[in-house]
Amino acid sequence: MDERPNCSGMGMRMMRDGYGRVIDYLRISVTDRCNFRCSYCMPPEGVKLLESSEILSYEELLRVITILGQHGVTNIRLTGGEPLVRKGMVDFIRSIRAIGTVKDLAMTTNGSLLGDVAHQLKGAGLDRVNISIDTLNPQKFAHITGGGKIEDVLRGIDSGIEAGMTPIKLNVVMTEVLSEEDVFYFIDQVHRFPIAVRFIEYMPISRCNVKSGSNIAAIKTMISKAGRGALESTVIARGNGPAKYYRLPKAIGLFGFITPISDYFCQSCNRIRLTADGKVKPCLLSNDEIDIKATLRGGGSDKDIYELFFKALQAKPMRHKLDDTREGEDLVRGMFQVGG
Ligand code: SAM
Repeated sequence: MDERPNCSGMGMRMMRDGYGRVIDYLRISVTDRCNFRCSYCMPPEGVKLLESSEILSYEELLRVITILGQHGVTNIRLTGGEPLVRKGMVDFIRSIRAIGTVKDLAMTTNGSLLGDVAHQLKGAGLDRVNISIDTLNPQKFAHITGGGKIEDVLRGIDSGIEAGMTPIKLNVVMTEVLSEEDVFYFIDQVHRFPIAVRFIEYMPISRCNVKSGSNIAAIKTMISKAGRGALESTVIARGNGPAKYYRLPKAIGLFGFITPISDYFCQSCNRIRLTADGKVKPCLLSNDEIDIKATLRGGGSDKDIYELFFKALQAKPMRHKLDDTREGEDLVRGMFQVGG
């Protein structure tokens, strides 16, 4: 830990992991439930869902955010499962805002339920959303999501844009369903809207039987073939995480590429994760986790809770071992249980 001034000028303790990386970003999986069954996220044999009593309550989550907020964790992302299937989300967001320490409050969602609530979420204090959309083809979309309707997601994206959740980022996992036609659609979209379309390498976890699709080089070739100019490297002001961003000359939106496998970015990792059942995960792609639920529910003090997070940070690996893990132990939790 080190001392750094916070925005009010008072000293604030920052959290650092064992390698000195400052950790200021907490990703919270608020539920393991999802209304989609994405084949790259959930194993085909189905999943055992948590009992509702096992899931951390909003009060427990607010306590954690408050404690970590005093240690410099100012960026919060809500994920899942699908965060919008959990009831009371608008009020929860308002309560997170009321804590007063959060600078950037974001959500990763499949977008299917966003259409009706985008304005309310924004009004309550949600800054922005990342929306997963892996193909525009309705049949392929239904197939990969286990019955999802692409029109619901497109409506969610429109509502998010209307509500001013900028920058809206679209997450496109590069699986076999992604086609050149989809890439051309996204090229059109970045010319019409201030969005960031991010192509993400498929991470082969949770015994999902999915083939990865195009690689980044192939996508870049498709974009250059479209004749809308050459991609130029750029940076974004807000939420500039592991993606490398590029702009086409006349586009108002951006493309991003996220390469956890071919060019991992662990050296700049600033995040820690909390699962819906109260396990702190120092790394998305590791089985290590530390339980905080028992301490939260067993009368533990704020200091006790903080110390568990600190302990988890000291166990954060320098880099993920996805390849090694695949050769040896399997990752126990699927993406839907950790939050992507
Ligand atoms: N339900 C929300 C959604 O669909 O965005 C949030 C949870 S989902 C687990 C979070 C992110 O993880 C999504 O963008 C999803 O595409 C990504 N994801 C899930 N499985 C993945 C995998 N095997 N490789 C790469 N990204 C994955």
